[in-house]
Amino acid sequence: MAFKIGFTAETEDNTVSYIESESVNVNTQPKRSVVEIYFEKRNMTLSYYNDRFDLKLGDLVYVEGKLEGMLGVIRDINYNFKIKISDYKRVIAVVDRSVSGEFFMAGSHFVSFDRQALPYRKILAFFKAPEEEYDDFISGSDGSGFSLGNLSDLNVPDAISERGYEYYVENRVLFICIDAGKGRAIVEGRDIYEVEFEFSGGQIKSLTCSCFCSNICKHEFAVMLQLRETLGMIEKNYSGAFEKSDYFSAIRKSVLFNFAIDGKKSGSFTLGQ
Ligand SMILES: [Zn+2]
Repeated sequence: MAFKIGFTAETEDNTVSYIESESVNVNTQPKRSVVEIYFEKRNMTLSYYNDRFDLKLGDLVYVEGKLEGMLGVIRDINYNFKIKISDYKRVIAVVDRSVSGEFFMAGSHFVSFDRQALPYRKILAFFKAPEEEYDDFISGSDGSGFSLGNLSDLNVPDAISERGYEYYVENRVLFICIDAGKGRAIVEGRDIYEVEFEFSGGQIKSLTCSCFCSNICKHEFAVMLQLRETLGMIEKNYSGAFEKSDYFSAIRKSVLFNFAIDGKKSGSFTLGQ
């Protein structure tokens, strides 16, 4: 079963009003505003200054300051204002919620074989403010691997495997993708964790997690369980699709709905056979 999501772009008209001048002055500067942002996690609304984005009501944003890294939603936008700039923190990123592509049912997750449908960085931004630089981290690997089919070979301590199993059952593995053998996953724990690995012929290598664990952690173990399940479903129901594209991504159903569908005022999707 597959469905397509194809939304007509919401063209809130940003066209510059025609000025009585022959030169068409295309204003690329975003309109400065003071916005009211609601932070669900704190149940509070605060004001921020914005000079970087063309914000719309309902946009999901990240800000600087004390609530840095916390997702907020734009509740009000004021274009007429006078503020003391030093009193205000700014909006630093807007989440791109546009998603389009073909998705297939795979248990708790939707799967796509289209690289454009769910790019990793875009999905990560649903949960974490984009970092300016991605090269702050360095990782190493001893080159040893293990078989995804024999996770018991890993000799993971019971406490870790049990917590990892709970994470897996609770669908805390929000996203996984494998692109040309390079795997990435996003796991929801106390924080958001990024797990990376290499995948080839059923073997996993270079498994790392952003929780800075030195041995295998519950996040990694949960990802392995989710990966095993998802690959099993792909093989059973969409045989050959992963091999053909050398790519798949899987996203928890509720994540796709929360971000890509909630808040849309128009558009449609089709459920296939
Ligand atoms: Zn971890």
